Amino acid sequence: MPDFHHARIDWDERGLPLSREFDDVYFSPDSGIDETRHVFLAGNDLAEAFAALPQQSQFCIGETGFGTGLNFLCAWQLFKQTAPAGARLHFVSVEKFPLARADLERALALWPDLAPFTQQLLEQYIAIHPGFQRLMFDGGRVVLTLMVGDALDCLPELDARIDAWFLDGFAPAKNPEMWSTELFAQLARLSHPGTTLATFTSAGFVRRALKDAGFRIKRVPGFGKKWEMSKGVFEGEATLQAKPWYARPRYQPALREALVIGAGLAGCASAASLAARGWQITLLERHEAIAQEASGNPQGVLYLKLSAHGTPLSRLIVSGFGHTRRLLQRLEHGVDWQGCGVLQLAFDAQEAKRQAKLADAFPHQLLHSLDQQQAEDLAGVALPAGGLYYPEAGWVHPPALCRLLTAHPNIRLRPHCEALELHREDGLWCAYANGQRLATAPVVVLAGAAEVLRFPQTVDLQLKRIRGQISRLPATPQSAGLRTVLCAEGYVAPPRRGEHTLGASFDFHSDDLEPTVAEHQGNLRLLEEISLDLTSRLQAERLDPATLQGRAAFRCTSPDYLPIVGPLADSAAFAKAYGVLAKDARQVPDITAPWLDGLYINSGHGSRGLITAPLSGELLAAWLDNEPLPVPRSVAEACHPNRFALRQLIRGQKA
Ligand code: SAM
Repeated sequence: MPDFHHARIDWDERGLPLSREFDDVYFSPDSGIDETRHVFLAGNDLAEAFAALPQQSQFCIGETGFGTGLNFLCAWQLFKQTAPAGARLHFVSVEKFPLARADLERALALWPDLAPFTQQLLEQYIAIHPGFQRLMFDGGRVVLTLMVGDALDCLPELDARIDAWFLDGFAPAKNPEMWSTELFAQLARLSHPGTTLATFTSAGFVRRALKDAGFRIKRVPGFGKKWEMSKGVFEGEATLQAKPWYARPRYQPALREALVIGAGLAGCASAASLAARGWQITLLERHEAIAQEASGNPQGVLYLKLSAHGTPLSRLIVSGFGHTRRLLQRLEHGVDWQGCGVLQLAFDAQEAKRQAKLADAFPHQLLHSLDQQQAEDLAGVALPAGGLYYPEAGWVHPPALCRLLTAHPNIRLRPHCEALELHREDGLWCAYANGQRLATAPVVVLAGAAEVLRFPQTVDLQLKRIRGQISRLPATPQSAGLRTVLCAEGYVAPPRRGEHTLGASFDFHSDDLEPTVAEHQGNLRLLEEISLDLTSRLQAERLDPATLQGRAAFRCTSPDYLPIVGPLADSAAFAKAYGVLAKDARQVPDITAPWLDGLYINSGHGSRGLITAPLSGELLAAWLDNEPLPVPRSVAEACHPNRFALRQLIRGQKA
């Protein structure tokens, strides 16, 4: 990636970090922590603001320049000391040059007072790649959305309502871009009347530009040798707006209770994100336990299918991968997952070309090319080619991730409950099976893959089922030497509990879930394409496809391959409200979308649910609870359920 690199740090004789790029200090040489508390915390009156928060509320801080995270950690510490137990903190920060983990560790070691917070940040400071990255702390009570990229690229993509700003983008003289009129216009867009702001600088041009953007600014005593700093309050209009069909529904139920239908990865993730926000969740599952269908395979691969062109799907994948990867830190390594890397083989010329473009477009730490020799050394087996290596990826036992997500006291699993109908009665959604009422709640999340189509409320959605079968291959002493996941048309993982998972077939037609011999044979052919050496180490010629163990399940995909995540609207009323778009697609009628109050969906994750479903749980919760979106606005809209109805109106097409 041409523009991306980590911060280049020099350390002065006192052990303080200096930016080589900007020739400036990350924090005051006198006492950075006291400066943070004075300038940013007191400057925004945060102790008072936090203490005054109601239970079940949220406070959102926005920052320009994440740097070492010192401001974030101090704000978190103060929040913990002063906010009521049910309140939550969102911290949204932008950073063009994130510190490498070792530098972050070294910089934060300067503040022993913050050690418990630093420890948690370091544990989560993994897979911090360009785009939006969400990190969760204190069981989800404190959420950090780190936008990795230039502030002027990222802020316009942010959908959040900021309560307090920290402006900390190096000295204005050294980095004027972070103090520009354009940037301040973004701060104003994301503010509401009463949003506060604080910064260490009192430079006249900064104050004037902030005033022009709508902030009332005053100069107050600065920290240490700095005579003055600035603080302010936003007095302009709230301007955060979206097209009505992608606007946030206003419905807020009196009771924070939800039914989640389907306990695969999407359902478990939705339940987890809502439970962390204090919602009471009833998780309805037709089988006897969670993760029995597509999320029930013994090993799933963290396979990133990226595009060099920054498509919404590709951006979602990078953000989702980071989020999942950080969640995995809480699972048992080697049993529930393994960070052994994933190698995508350059199995033909076209694939090699595609991989070369990707290697140019993404940071080395996320992916890089290996030649055949390097790939073989890494994999521990002979290979037909080199490929693209994702060092932070690996395999996951999806049921373990589902268990982790649902291990929350607010989540109640109701097994053997198959919701067949859904009716809105007296302001509540009621799920029925064969005339019998199963459960009720003001909010429902449909997370049952393609089964969601059985409800008439989803008439505009288009989901396809694609059968996939995996084969379970007993490991041999020779095959156990495989050190990374290998992918070509199929994939094979290093063994878990003495077995390799080999997958997976694609069948667009079959409705049957019985594993077939033909597909085991097909999987063995995929294995040969991956590595003849591994095939012989597995003694595959002695394996009888007729007796091989395996399982089949359905992937569920949408026509544009993006998941479907968000609020649902009434289809007929939608077509009526926005019918004018059929004639003129540029019209934006000032009509609120006919939302089906409280009805949401999280589905269509295809074969990449491990990567997209957990972050989609966060996206869903952000729609529901009016929180900062964990992905750029354009990505959230690309995943929005209304996209299909909209396309149908505009282009008269089904998808
Ligand atoms: N708040 C930080 C802390 O608590 O450690 C210190 C921030 S440091 C003074 C300024 C940060 O702004 C640096 O990390 C720098 O890389 C970042 N930065 C500078 N220009 C930027 C830009 N155009 N977009 C995003 N980040 C930028």
